[in-house]
Order: sequence, then C-alpha cells, then structure tokens
Amino acid sequence: MKPPVFDYIAATSVDMAVAALAAAGGEAKIIAGGQSLVPMLNFRLIRPTVLVDINGIADLAYIEEAGSDIRVGALTRHYQLETSATIARHFPVLSCAMTHVAHLAIRNRGTIGGSLSHADPAAELPMLALLLDASLHIASASGTRTVDARDFFLDALTVDLAGTDLLTEIVLPKLPPRTGWGFGEVARRHGDFALTAVAATLTVSDGAIGEARIALTGVGPTPLRAAAAEVLLRGHALEAGLTRRAIDAVRAGVAPETDLHASSDYRRHLAGVLTGRALAAAWRRAQAGSA
Ligand SMILES: Cc1cc2nc3c(=O)[nH]c(=O)nc-3n(C[C@H](O)[C@H](O)[C@H](O)COP(=O)(O)OP(=O)(O)OC[C@H]3O[C@@H](n4cnc5c(N)ncnc54)[C@H](O)[C@@H]3O)c2cc1C
Repeated sequence: MKPPVFDYIAATSVDMAVAALAAAGGEAKIIAGGQSLVPMLNFRLIRPTVLVDINGIADLAYIEEAGSDIRVGALTRHYQLETSATIARHFPVLSCAMTHVAHLAIRNRGTIGGSLSHADPAAELPMLALLLDASLHIASASGTRTVDARDFFLDALTVDLAGTDLLTEIVLPKLPPRTGWGFGEVARRHGDFALTAVAATLTVSDGAIGEARIALTGVGPTPLRAAAAEVLLRGHALEAGLTRRAIDAVRAGVAPETDLHASSDYRRHLAGVLTGRALAAAWRRAQAGSA
C-alpha cells in the first residue's frame, strides 16, 4: 500500500513545529525516525492531513549532563543512546537495553521521542523511562509542561500527548552510588519486539537493599513497575527466598494477554524468570560498587 495524501512541513525549530501542529488542529502527525509512522501510513492505519517533519530541528538531538540529571533531546537516535559514553557511565542498563531494540538500520533512524510517543506495549524505551523515573518535557503552541513517565503511558499506543503536542526532552535523574542493574529479554528472534523484558536496579547500603526498582514490558498494554516486589525487597539482603517472593509478587501483579506470539501463562512465567535473573545481576553489580 502507499500512504494517503498529506501535506508536508519540514520544521526547523520547535516553535515552527508546534505552530504547524496547532494550525492543523490535531490532524497532523509528527515524523521523527519514521520507523513506526511510515508503516502505519502505508497500511492506512492513520490518515493525517499534514506531516510535520522534526528531523531538521538540530537542537532536539543531544545527550547532556546537567547537575544531577542527564537530559536527552527527543530526536536523539536509538544508536546514539546505545553508543553514548554518558549513558554508559550513568545508565548502563539503558545502553544494554538499546541493543535489544530492533536492528541496527532501525536504530540508526528511530528516536527516543518517537518510541516513547508511539508507546508500543512491548517496547524497551518506555520501560526504561519508567524504571529510571524519567520526566518528559512537552511543548505546544500554548506553552510547555512536564509529565512524569509513570503518568505518561495511558494504554497501548496511547500516551498523555495531544495531537498538537511535541515531546521535546527526556530528563533522567542520575542513580545513587552503589546501584547495580540487570536486564533480561526474551524475543522470538533477536531484534523482534520483546515477548517480555525486565529491567531492575538495586541500590545497596550496609549490605541491604535501600531502593529497588523493577520495570517490565510485554505483560500489559503499558510498561509496568512491580511496586509490590519493590517494597518487599527494601531493607533486606538478596537471597534465594527473597528472590522467590519477589518473583511471586511480580507474577501476581501482571495480567498479560494471550496473542499470536505467546500465551498469557508463558509471558507471566517469563516475567518471573527474567525478574530473578535481573535481580541477581543487579545485586552482584551493586556489591561490586558499579553504578
Ligand atoms: C522491523 C521493526 C522492528 C522494531 N523492533 C523494535 C523493538 O524491538 N523494540 C522497540 O522498542 N521498537 C522497535 N521498533 C520501533 C522503533 O524503535 C521505532 O523507531 C520507534 O517505535 C518509533 O520511533 P521513530 O523515531 O521512528 O518514530 P516515528 O515512526 O517517526 O513516530 C512514531 C509515533 O510517534 C510520534 N512522534 C514521534 N516523535 C514525536 C515527538 N517528539 N513528539 C510527539 N510525538 C512524536 C509520531 O507522530 C508517531 O505517531 C521496530 C520497528 C521496526 C520497523
């Protein structure tokens, strides 16, 4: 199929982009990497009247350190995240996760802003945004606002963005010292969307877990934090019994759908297995003092 007819505006600034979105009254679509948008156009799942191309907004692509945060421009490509020394130093869990996103050709074009805005229920970046307590900066013709990642993902392919909004920046607060991380994913083939993936961080002090974070994707319409498991891990050293209880809490907290790719039971099983592995890796790295 070929895409439906649309007008095309190549924006060169955020102001120009949000003005074009406002002028189209919510009927426009932003094109960033185009890796999800173009298939949707070609299958005629969407019929925007205007495409607003943000690839010419050079100052939307950056990864920079700002005090206790790392700030990432929405147009930053997956490949830039994957290979960034700043990301590797502060969020090695994110560098690791990026190698599981699609294939190199797609990672060369796909953007963090596109992935978060598209919000595929099995995507890695929405899960990482949730894990890392990201906040998202959004611009429109009427001003700017900030939304926490935990409030951004509303349903499958549905986020807190109006048709006139442009996601501009993702802010990632640095992790505390002695935080270890773990990441695990099962996909049918490397580069496919995850059947299930889990990312975890454990911050350890005096031999006990001070803060635990566990995020999952592929087990519901939106990425999830395993809040019950996080609570029971806090204040304890990780050992086999505690890991088992955390796994049980994760499995009890998810209700995945059966689809063409995997049954609900299999995804729930994977959520537990991957949680156990991610926690073990995070604990080991935290003991070794890795960030
Ligand atoms: C074969 C294949 C395999 C893939 N496998 C994976 C995978 O394993 N894991 C994974 O996570 N992803 C995967 N993807 C998706 C890929 O990561 C996409 O790049 C990503 O989902 C969308 O990013 P994009 O920059 O290409 O966005 P686009 O396709 O340009 O846009 C996607 C949507 O987001 C909107 N949008 C884009 N940027 C903004 C912005 N700044 N503000 C507001 N709205 C915006 C667009 O209007 C559109 O609705 C795969 C894609 C393909 C084609």
